[in-house]
Amino acid sequence: MEKRQDGYYVQFVSNQSRKKQQLEKIRIVILSDTHNLHHSYIKNGKSFPSGDILLHAGDFSNYGLPHEAIQFDGFLRSIKTQFKAIYVIPGNHENWCDWIAPYLSHCTLFLRNKSAKFECPNQQTIQLYGTRFKPFWSLPLMRDSMSQQSFDHIPLGTNIVMSHQPMFDILDHYGDHPGNKQLRKRVEIVKPDIFVCGHNHDEGRSMEIVNLENDHQILCINAAMDLGNGTLGLPIILDYFV
Ligand SMILES: [Zn+2]
Repeated sequence: MEKRQDGYYVQFVSNQSRKKQQLEKIRIVILSDTHNLHHSYIKNGKSFPSGDILLHAGDFSNYGLPHEAIQFDGFLRSIKTQFKAIYVIPGNHENWCDWIAPYLSHCTLFLRNKSAKFECPNQQTIQLYGTRFKPFWSLPLMRDSMSQQSFDHIPLGTNIVMSHQPMFDILDHYGDHPGNKQLRKRVEIVKPDIFVCGHNHDEGRSMEIVNLENDHQILCINAAMDLGNGTLGLPIILDYFV
């Protein structure tokens, strides 16, 4: 990842498009774990990078309260014209709030176990899927039963999987590797191009490539931005070639 003035820059060519002569560039700006601090971009007059798609991988709030969702929606309104589509998933801080989606009127879709389709200028379709958060911080018994839950609902053919929690042993290098094994199993079956997570603030804005058989690569990104000192780090700017 290359640090630029307005974000951490990375490029990735879709596995299906590697042999193509002409590629379409889709710029994706990725945020996560902004924890009510997103407004600092506006107040400080920092320039927010533009793109085709904006993704937020969850934890935009601290408590999942209505006023926090309204404040976040105000932030989305202020940058909405810079994107063709905005997709948000819940993090652990807003996971139980079924009522939150209507507050996010400036987001194209709130993906809580839901798919979305983005039409590229070259007629190609990018399929996205956002999972809800399956907790793993709870009592050991509960944690074990939760971790058994399957992620089979992530559809085959998905190009970008968004999950607030990381997969097991990938970008979850803190504590006792709290990433989810079932999630990793499903993602390795679905074989998306891109996996976006957050949650792990310690390793925020980092990436890892997972190599599968037949040279299939998955670009895994942890986009967590809260630096823990009341400020946000820079977002990730991904140029995705399809
Ligand atoms: Zn967080």
